Amino acid sequence: MIELQMYINGEWKESSNHEKRPIVNPANGEVIAYAPEGTIKDAREAIDVARKTFDEGIWSDLPAVERASYLFKIAGKIEENQEELTRLETLDNGKTLREAGYDILDAAACFRYYAGLITKPDGQTYHVADPMQAMVVREPIGVCGLIVPWNYPLLMSVWKIAPALAAGNTIVFKPSEITPVTPKKLFEIMDEVGIPKGVANMVFGAGPVVGHEIAASSKVDMVSFTGGTKTGKHIMKMAADTMKKVSLELGGKSPNIIFADSDLETSVDYALFGIYSGAGQVCSAGSRILVEESVYDEFVNQFVERANEIKVGPGNDPDSEMGPLVSQQHLEKVLKYIEIGQQEGAKIAAGGNRIVSNGLETGYFVEPTVFVDVQQDMRIVQEEIFGPVVVIQKFKDEEEAIKLANDTDYGLAGAVFTNDGAKALRVIKKLRAGITWINAYHPTYNEAPWGGYKQSGIGRSLGTFGLEEFQEIKQININLQVEPIGWFANKNE
Ligand code: NDP
Repeated sequence: MIELQMYINGEWKESSNHEKRPIVNPANGEVIAYAPEGTIKDAREAIDVARKTFDEGIWSDLPAVERASYLFKIAGKIEENQEELTRLETLDNGKTLREAGYDILDAAACFRYYAGLITKPDGQTYHVADPMQAMVVREPIGVCGLIVPWNYPLLMSVWKIAPALAAGNTIVFKPSEITPVTPKKLFEIMDEVGIPKGVANMVFGAGPVVGHEIAASSKVDMVSFTGGTKTGKHIMKMAADTMKKVSLELGGKSPNIIFADSDLETSVDYALFGIYSGAGQVCSAGSRILVEESVYDEFVNQFVERANEIKVGPGNDPDSEMGPLVSQQHLEKVLKYIEIGQQEGAKIAAGGNRIVSNGLETGYFVEPTVFVDVQQDMRIVQEEIFGPVVVIQKFKDEEEAIKLANDTDYGLAGAVFTNDGAKALRVIKKLRAGITWINAYHPTYNEAPWGGYKQSGIGRSLGTFGLEEFQEIKQININLQVEPIGWFANKNE
């Protein structure tokens, strides 16, 4: 049994009320760990420590190259522990070992990327009227509250922690209450490499308790949140009273547009990857496939055949291609949407059921599911399901494809499959989405900004943009000729 603790001011801690929450393996429903149930008091303690540490300049005053050296060490340790982290991620989140393995390596690469970036030039100077010299410097924001979801427990944590620390901030971090295991391991690594105490603090606990306190606290300068759009709206309201900066990476209902002139085998293959990797619990999942009418039937036939062949099973079975959903509660939500789709009149072309055979009875497994005969105003077309459920729609021309693609509240990601390069770029430029692909789905890189349009969020993670989210911008104007300005007459002269 894994016993988890919170990390505040460089010390491992139980919660102030000594309560614990069981952490469950979604592949079989068994308890694998206990985590302290953090309280408002715990959150306040962590915030106070982060505030004091920031104000003392212990971290922000270090030369960037010294902060970077800690980040490089963390990257190295993540790689050294890759096998264990992969195993733990699969145990806690349910994703396959293959998926978890990529996440862990990406997490190490993200630390390394920001360690490198922070030592590069980042200011500007302006040639203004003599005798002034104007320049711009970037500074840390201060105390950053970081709140993350359960679908990439380690990677989503690192997307925030690495740039926030690189920029010189102190942090109060809250993982999802469902998946605290690898975040705890990351804090062990940060402790091992000797990050000064008080710089990085981690509190467990429920979102409406600990997360709410982080978002509302007047001692926190910024809140960076990844999670559902509904929670994101709440965070924004909580942050408004203290006018703190917010960065929000939220949900999606992303379109994957397949034109008749695309290579159908490739389109089908990427479309499967787009929706069923991570069992569909991916914010950028291609959950709406739009297919040009002349190849619609053929596409659906090939897609359904391949979806039915996906091997669903425990993430730690090397033969499994798709793991379970993360929790009983989330399983119920996804099954409810499948029911809603049928009630709305859509037709199930594949899957549609919980899997309760072959030893999967106690886990939260759902068949790869395909809906056809859908209408644009159906809830299964408009709302994020966040499971292995896709809708396949038909379009007649480029104009209709763009119209349907943009017709939801979300704007996170989208893709186009076609052999016509000009058409691909024309359509991509019309998509109201922040992350896009041509003839591919999902690959993304630490160097490139990640984030959404519309109700998919505000701000960007990753790349130089992801660092700037955690920085303030200051202009400095220097008088090169120190003498009175003489604006008002000096009566003594
Ligand atoms: P939630 O919004 O439910 O939770 C996200 C985090 O917010 C959790 O740590 C949660 O705590 C916390 N939280 C919940 N309520 C509050 C509150 N009132 N105040 C402050 N914090 C709160 O999302 P899920 O965990 O269910 O994650 C799935 C969602 O995340 C999907 O919508 C997905 O699209 C989105 N996502 C977006 C990404 C992007 O890059 N755009 C990437 C990954 C996921 P608790 O532990 O109690 O749940």
